[in-house]
Amino acid sequence: AKEQGRGMFQFYDVRLTERAKERLFLESELREALVREELLVHYQPQYSLADDRLIGAEVLLRWHHSEHGIIPPDKFISIAEDTGLIVPIGEWVLQTACRQAKTWLAAGYDFQRMAVNLSGVQIERSDMLATVRQVLKDTGLPANYLELEITETYIMQQAQQNIRIMEDLRALGVALAVDDFGTGQSSLGYLKRLPVDKLKIDRSFIMDIPQDSNDMAITRAIIALGHNLHLTVLAEGVETAEQSAFLKELGCDEAQGYYYSRPLEAASYERFLKKRPAS
Ligand code: C2E
Ligand code: CA
Ligand code: CA
Ligand code: CA
Repeated sequence: AKEQGRGMFQFYDVRLTERAKERLFLESELREALVREELLVHYQPQYSLADDRLIGAEVLLRWHHSEHGIIPPDKFISIAEDTGLIVPIGEWVLQTACRQAKTWLAAGYDFQRMAVNLSGVQIERSDMLATVRQVLKDTGLPANYLELEITETYIMQQAQQNIRIMEDLRALGVALAVDDFGTGQSSLGYLKRLPVDKLKIDRSFIMDIPQDSNDMAITRAIIALGHNLHLTVLAEGVETAEQSAFLKELGCDEAQGYYYSRPLEAASYERFLKKRPAS
């Protein structure tokens, strides 16, 4: 047993080293990624369930490494957070997304909302209020076209403090959404005080509908809770017509997922947009 124990330790050590190496490599590469212009964003369509209307896009970051190809956010966001690189990267995402939204509006498209993910680290380590204000000013995008997504887990870590920051952001005129809702153990007391407009039901509750009746009950409860608090409710990760129909029947307001569309390059997203009627 002792022998085996030591063997296992060695195995663990090797794996740890490999992972540490990969992390170090990605960390130094990520520092260069912004300068080398290897970062890009995709836009995932969001739909209104009642009338199947396109109502906006969630901006999702991608890293196109010159040798390693596309590196997904799950591989590098946490590194970007640990190193603080998420601050300049997040600012670049915000800037890029707002500029794109403004371009679509200026071209006469009926574009309604750009949703951008905010990391808790950005909120802690930078002046988000000043950044958002500046980006809106630089790009000329009216604040009501921007929505910021903050995860439930992060909000609840320091709810008191975050509520103040969120109130300031909202006073700018941007909308706020609670991301990955249902996974972060919100206290109901805080939830009713959160200055937010929307709950995004986490994909983990949607994926097993209709096989998992517990998930269906939770989804139903979240929609009712959101509506009682006068919030819009969006379901993430909708992959089938059946899930979409179930959500619509429950009165869920909005949905996003592969059933509607994968995240798209700007040019592809643009093909989904309609021109505003001339007024
Ligand atoms: P998220 O904010 O929950 O974003 C939704 C994720 O689900 C995206 O993964 C999206 O591509 C994926 N997705 C959408 N519909 C479906 C579906 O029907 N089925 C499945 N299986 N997946 C679906 P992605 O793009 O890999 O992003 C992963 C996470 O990385 C995001 O989760 C978010 O937490 C983070 N992230 C992405 N872009 C940014 C960013 O600009 N800033 C920050 N701070 N985090 C970001
Ligand atoms: Ca999100
Ligand atoms: Ca999410
Ligand atoms: Ca499940």
